[in-house]
Amino acid sequence: MDSDVRIDLHSHSVASDGTDTPAELVTLAAAAGLDVLAITDHDTTDGWAPAAAARPAGLTLIRGAEFSTQIAAGDRMVSVHLLGYLFDPADAAVVAEQTRLREERRRRGMAMVQRMAADGLPISGGQVMRIADGAPVGRPHIGQALIESGVVESVDEAFASLLGGPHGYYLPKADTDLATAVRLVTAAGGAAVLAHPRGRGEALALRPAVIGELAQAGLVGIEVDHPDHPAAARAELAALAAAYGLLSTGSSDYHGHNKTLTIGQETTRPDQLVRLVERTSGVTPVLGELS
Ligand code: AMP
Ligand code: ZN
Repeated sequence: MDSDVRIDLHSHSVASDGTDTPAELVTLAAAAGLDVLAITDHDTTDGWAPAAAARPAGLTLIRGAEFSTQIAAGDRMVSVHLLGYLFDPADAAVVAEQTRLREERRRRGMAMVQRMAADGLPISGGQVMRIADGAPVGRPHIGQALIESGVVESVDEAFASLLGGPHGYYLPKADTDLATAVRLVTAAGGAAVLAHPRGRGEALALRPAVIGELAQAGLVGIEVDHPDHPAAARAELAALAAAYGLLSTGSSDYHGHNKTLTIGQETTRPDQLVRLVERTSGVTPVLGELS
């Protein structure tokens, strides 16, 4: 691949907690000058078909998902997101676990809403389910309900005041064990990459030795360049990737207007993407050119 190819390997649509339809997402990516986009909705592959159908000719589409996982750090469970690329969406174990994770999201979302409503906040479970519109329920959907009801002005404000853990109304979910999720993605023919491993408290659990163990379990790469990573974290992660033979990726984690960042804000080097695709078994092909 040419070295000036622009690659964003992490984005969300309305199939999870983004605000663009999958068709809008691929159209926007091409308009923003991206050559390659990965669609990586939380715990679902529902956006794959509409994104593929609307893919502009010049855009290469990598189909993936972001799995909700957890790992112990002492007596605490830490939430870690795992990107899976090009895995078989019909793999029985993947289907079963994504179904469980979506049910867990619904249960946890409704429990958070109940606690808010009990405290007098004008929000209801039905309202959040209407806003999610069939997507796996995420805190940004609750944030949108809080905007709709006039409680906050933005999703960012909702996270800062009511939705962010460990304060406010945050409740944890029972996510997949991280190493199990790495094996799940790998066994389904995909490539597993740690999402923002220094973004939101993951450092407590994802110590260098743990990342080494995950590499042994099949982890292919780590998301080094991410909007939530300060420069020091990027340097540390790049060194870890080199030490453990892992790929370094970069991505925006675009969520539409649920987050204040732009698609393509962070990018992945073409040689890293080529190596990532080589680590997959081709069950779910790359759509478009990779050369
Ligand atoms: P959940 O998956 O339900 O725990 O919600 C977390 C999701 O909300 C992640 O995908 C974040 O990227 C997204 N998100 C959107 N806006 C924010 C924000 N201001 N702070 C933290 N996470 C946010
Ligand atoms: Zn994400």
